[in-house]
Amino acid sequence: MTTLHTLGFPRIGAKRELKLALEAFWKGQQNAVELLDTARELRQRHWLNQKAAGIQQVPVGDFALYDHVLDAQLLVGAIPKRFGLDAATLDLAGYFTLARGDAGHHAQEMTKWFDTNYHYLVPEWHADTAFSANPERLLAQVREAQALGLKAKPVLVGPLTLLWLGKTKGEAFERLALLPQLLAVYRELLAALAASGIDWVQIDEPILALELPTEWLAAFAPAYQTLADSPVKLLLATYFGSVAEHAALINALPIAGLHLDLARAPEQLDAFLPGWPAGRVLSAGLIDGRNIWRADLSRQLARAQTLAERFGDALWLAPSCSLLHVPLDAAQETALDTELRSWLAFALQKLNELKLLKRGIEQGRDAIANELAGSDFAQATRRQSPRIHRADVAARLAALPADADRRASPYPVRATAQRAWLQLPLLPTTTIGSFPQTAEIRAARAAFKKGELAAADYETAMRAEIAEMIRRQEALAIDVPVHGEAERNDMVEYFGEQLAGYLFTQLGWVQSYGSRCVKPPIIFGDVAREAPMTVRWSVYAQSLTQRPVKGMLTGPVTMLQWSFVRDDLPRSTVARQIALALNDEVLDLEAAGIRVIQIDEPAIREGLPLKRADWDRYLAWTGEAFRLSSHRVDDATQIHTHMCYSEFNDILPAIAALDADVITIETSRSDMQLLTAFGEFAYPNEIGPGVYDIHSPRIPAEAEIERLLTKALAVIPAERLWVNPDCGLKTRGWPEVEAALANMMAVTKHLRASLGERGSV
Ligand code: GLN
Ligand code: ZN
Repeated sequence: MTTLHTLGFPRIGAKRELKLALEAFWKGQQNAVELLDTARELRQRHWLNQKAAGIQQVPVGDFALYDHVLDAQLLVGAIPKRFGLDAATLDLAGYFTLARGDAGHHAQEMTKWFDTNYHYLVPEWHADTAFSANPERLLAQVREAQALGLKAKPVLVGPLTLLWLGKTKGEAFERLALLPQLLAVYRELLAALAASGIDWVQIDEPILALELPTEWLAAFAPAYQTLADSPVKLLLATYFGSVAEHAALINALPIAGLHLDLARAPEQLDAFLPGWPAGRVLSAGLIDGRNIWRADLSRQLARAQTLAERFGDALWLAPSCSLLHVPLDAAQETALDTELRSWLAFALQKLNELKLLKRGIEQGRDAIANELAGSDFAQATRRQSPRIHRADVAARLAALPADADRRASPYPVRATAQRAWLQLPLLPTTTIGSFPQTAEIRAARAAFKKGELAAADYETAMRAEIAEMIRRQEALAIDVPVHGEAERNDMVEYFGEQLAGYLFTQLGWVQSYGSRCVKPPIIFGDVAREAPMTVRWSVYAQSLTQRPVKGMLTGPVTMLQWSFVRDDLPRSTVARQIALALNDEVLDLEAAGIRVIQIDEPAIREGLPLKRADWDRYLAWTGEAFRLSSHRVDDATQIHTHMCYSEFNDILPAIAALDADVITIETSRSDMQLLTAFGEFAYPNEIGPGVYDIHSPRIPAEAEIERLLTKALAVIPAERLWVNPDCGLKTRGWPEVEAALANMMAVTKHLRASLGERGSV
């Protein structure tokens, strides 16, 4: 008998119940009992969903009110001392203080969980961090599952992964030094779980898919030796990539089972087979937990059958990773036609795929003949559908010359051509694109979308908004104004909705962090631009001012990175398709007189592969896609890009290789540290380091801005330095934006005057 299990499940609920309950609790509209009831109800519903699909071991402890890495910190009793809270007696208010901060404490830092868009709270390790087992919360959830008659399989973040994910604080020390103490606590936790009738525990060590320093790798064997005599069986879970290079190490670990991600890295199993310990369970992650495509069931069944022959009862089947990273239920997407829906599988559909695989293994192909035929049909229509495959798109890519991504002239030549017509003062000022999205703007967009506002009236409302934006920027004397992006709900969705090849769901929510969910678009087919997307807005803005208006586009890598992407083409090809679609827009903007164009790429850094060895290839194709999006523009047309959300020090050469004429980049939160790196690297083109942090309503004082700009001037020659905020201003209110920009302008004028005096122009 093959065993079915999952590594984790979405938490938020079909209608985002958890989000709504959390936010109601934070606003004081719900009490703790109500919130905890919702949470319990969701856990139970999701376990029963899994049971209905024949999942024999349900994950427990994968659910979290805010974040499972925070819960892991509580479980081992190691919450940062600075909060003055005690893990053992923590109440809900305390829990959310850790997650969200309060008046006296900044929250724990948040960062992306490996290469997903899920964010976890970063543990803070001090040399004197102490651990203590704190299993009650987890045990209570185990009892909940058991009360439903389910076999509970607790999920723990593994000790090495937990330590690795944290950052050291205070005096310098090596966080591995905390391992012995931490392991003692894991032993206690495992004993407590065993006493609750637990048989298997899933212990996640996704860091094995990274390139780990040798001392970390060396720590695995002794660590798991320490846990070996625990009264439970350990299923070591790896995911998000291949761990093949550690096959010998992992095969020798004293564990009862191993989960491998066979969706991302199907070939890795071969490395393990020769030394596979007798009796060890293989949990085969065949069904892709990171994507929303219906599985090719025939193919997967063939793979599963081969594994079943080799492993017999020791074969478990699972999604490749936790299903946390996909939406819950494709059946809810009733606005999509049946063909589109037939290509999709969200979490519930993936459970069903597992169930069919098990039936196929145990009762033979014929037992699931209908389902196999349905899957084959979906695969065939995806392979052939004219909705997906467009000859014109393929032909255009094929016809691109090898050097299509190169500008006609090198930057110095272009800069001369651009200066000739732009006639900008020293330290030109600009913004990143968006201005405050007021309640009226949102209301107009929503009414238009619902059909309550006629197209012509919507157009009028947006034009009025643009006129107001230009008026305000004129008043501030911003050198390169923008139209303000009032018409955009979201920087990816706005373009995706106008491009062929994209589809949008109604309820395809995925948790990003805490109560925050995102609804990534789905790139299902060849991407092409049907008609101009932004030209009329930019042209209207330009008609209202003598200053050069900057056009505003979302770049190909960000369009790709923040979407679910088709799995029948390499990502690099999809990126090139998007680039060419954007290039159509760039050329139309240019022809319409918009000759400063910003192509935002905030997501370039976060798409980096987990293993450094794969970085160069990624940076090569993403760089090519970016450059393709502006190919064939005139030397005199100035291409900007913008980046934020990350530290960029380690990819500066790749950023320079984008060859944008100007980059505006988030720097103020790191106090311009990044700039030092830009200086050392001798960044060749123009750069606008953000002079103030837009993430808070705080108005930066002139002295602060001046200090940052002076720092910038020390590493970037004045003739290549721009002045701008850190990022778009859409989340801010007008009073603070006006005041902050006024300060920015005042400092700039002052610096221009003193630079003029020094004659460095
Ligand atoms: N142009 C976008 C804006 O100003 C950029 C947003 C971003 O970098 N995330 O909102
Ligand atoms: Zn930004």
